[in-house]
Amino acid sequence: MKKECRAAVIAGNWKMNCGPAAAAKLIEELKPLAEDADCGVIICVPFVDLQTAIEATKGSNIHVGAQNCHWAESGAFTAEISAGMLKELGVEYVILGHSERRQYFGETDVTVNQRLRAALNAGLKPILCVGEVLEQREQGVTEEIVRMQTKIALQGVTAEEMKQIIIAYEPVWAIGTGKTATADQADEVCGQIRKVLAQLYGESCAEATTIQYGGSMKPANAKELLGKVHVDGGLIGGAALKAADFAAIIHAAQ
Ligand code: PEP
Repeated sequence: MKKECRAAVIAGNWKMNCGPAAAAKLIEELKPLAEDADCGVIICVPFVDLQTAIEATKGSNIHVGAQNCHWAESGAFTAEISAGMLKELGVEYVILGHSERRQYFGETDVTVNQRLRAALNAGLKPILCVGEVLEQREQGVTEEIVRMQTKIALQGVTAEEMKQIIIAYEPVWAIGTGKTATADQADEVCGQIRKVLAQLYGESCAEATTIQYGGSMKPANAKELLGKVHVDGGLIGGAALKAADFAAIIHAAQ
């Protein structure tokens, strides 16, 4: 399958930014700028903004995602949110395994797998994040790390379920730092992830899966990154908080 046949998807990760009022304003700014998008558009907003985002995006081409979910359906997990709760609210996507969750909140490949399976069971579409830290890149083990993260996160996931999953390659050293992986570096690792998918699920599944790059993507570098054969979209942090910048990246994906 050619790159052109895969779904290009630009997703914004708002992280812990914008309360409901600011979220409503940002979405109103974004809607007209994104309405002619030739790619999938997702905004992954804080839990408290989900209801606002779902209401504000109704009838538009913007899809709404959360930034995490718990693996249990319910129970004694103070402050956590289950996949079923998100689904009931009308949420469509959920980011899982983001490096900030791994780095600051003890997320492991095993818990990412548990969350991912819970998300699929609830009918959510996961955006699975994988990526190496700077030390691992310098040690020359990027491929091994990303292979391992991908394989563990996908334990127990079927080829049919893979149709619901987007993978985001996010080198940790490039997130929020202003340092972007070169387009060739991004393409190389996205290609390695596709190779893992081919081994696990076969060529056609690997070729059909959307693999995004994330890490300081902005209007100035989006076109080059998104032009690479294995880079099917972007997971955007900082630049997703400015409607004009996010829209420029969306248009670079066309
Ligand atoms: C992210 O948070 O997933 C991300 C890629 O952030 P930034 O674009 O700010 O590097």
